[in-house]
Amino acid sequence: MKKLLPTSTSGSLPKPSWLAQPETLWSPWKPAGDDLADAKRDALRLCLDDQLRAGIDIVSDGEQTRQHFVTTFIEHLNGVDFEKRETVRIRNRYDASVPSVVGEVSRTKPVFVDDAKFLRQLTTQPIKWALPGPMTMIDTLYDGHYKSREKLAWEFAKILNQEAKELEAAGVDIIQFDEPAFNVFFDEVNDWGIAALERAIEGLQCETAVHICYGYGIKANTDWKKTLGSEWRQYEEIFPRLQRSNIDIVSLECQNSRVPMELIELIRGKKVMVGAIDVATNTVETPEQVAETLRKALQFVDADKLYPCTNCGMTPLSRQVARGKLDALSAGADIVRRELLGQ
Ligand code: ZN
Repeated sequence: MKKLLPTSTSGSLPKPSWLAQPETLWSPWKPAGDDLADAKRDALRLCLDDQLRAGIDIVSDGEQTRQHFVTTFIEHLNGVDFEKRETVRIRNRYDASVPSVVGEVSRTKPVFVDDAKFLRQLTTQPIKWALPGPMTMIDTLYDGHYKSREKLAWEFAKILNQEAKELEAAGVDIIQFDEPAFNVFFDEVNDWGIAALERAIEGLQCETAVHICYGYGIKANTDWKKTLGSEWRQYEEIFPRLQRSNIDIVSLECQNSRVPMELIELIRGKKVMVGAIDVATNTVETPEQVAETLRKALQFVDADKLYPCTNCGMTPLSRQVARGKLDALSAGADIVRRELLGQ
């Protein structure tokens, strides 16, 4: 990016009420059949329009065509049975009924590539596309086949690499892997999690990002956060290894979080998407609050590597609140950009 402090969002944006129940995660689709395919694309257009009107620099599909950031990708793969469900503990935090891995996993056709092409033709702005990371994928499944988290993650990494290469060919500028699981399983992250991520980005020429957050503003996550104490130092466990990885950009939660900002120093040299918008509250930040978070981050990130962003996805928020937050992000980044340029 040539522009200083280019803004983006970390992932999902709210869906229109005619597409899916608003302010709800995993919300089922309302239209069906051909109507659904059209409705998803209409929503994608509107979601892009919101971002462009707010002046967001690196735009995305807002995940308008997916029900969930992990399962929608897995639904398109072979080897996972969505009828055969088991209850597992997700990220050591909450129990959920999940699909089972029943055989070798593989990808027989592209999953999001047509959607990415559609987005590409709608805008000349840089586009970012999010995929689930290998470790977060395995943590959302019951594995009755490989019986090894590492082995299954490695298989998913190979599949993600196939998808990522086709997204790159479709004109995606930044491919992002969502790895909230990196904030939980530190030993595994260092042993094989980051290696699996590097397998997923192997051979890519476009930029690559990993998004590591404390999750959506849902109760299971806010309850978990209450147990983490006054300082959240989870990033400290994984940043040294991440700093030595091939990944270009690290996307983090910073606004209203108890993450000590100085931990960002541990990934010095990486581009950092600094979460300057809290997605767990309906209160819209003021531009000055956004600017203050960015100024703090600038103590530990070089200005040309700072990318103002949101803490996480905004699906659970209302469209009105999300639009307000996009505007605040853009205006807050502009304040600091002017300061840096002496304007
Ligand atoms: Zn997130």
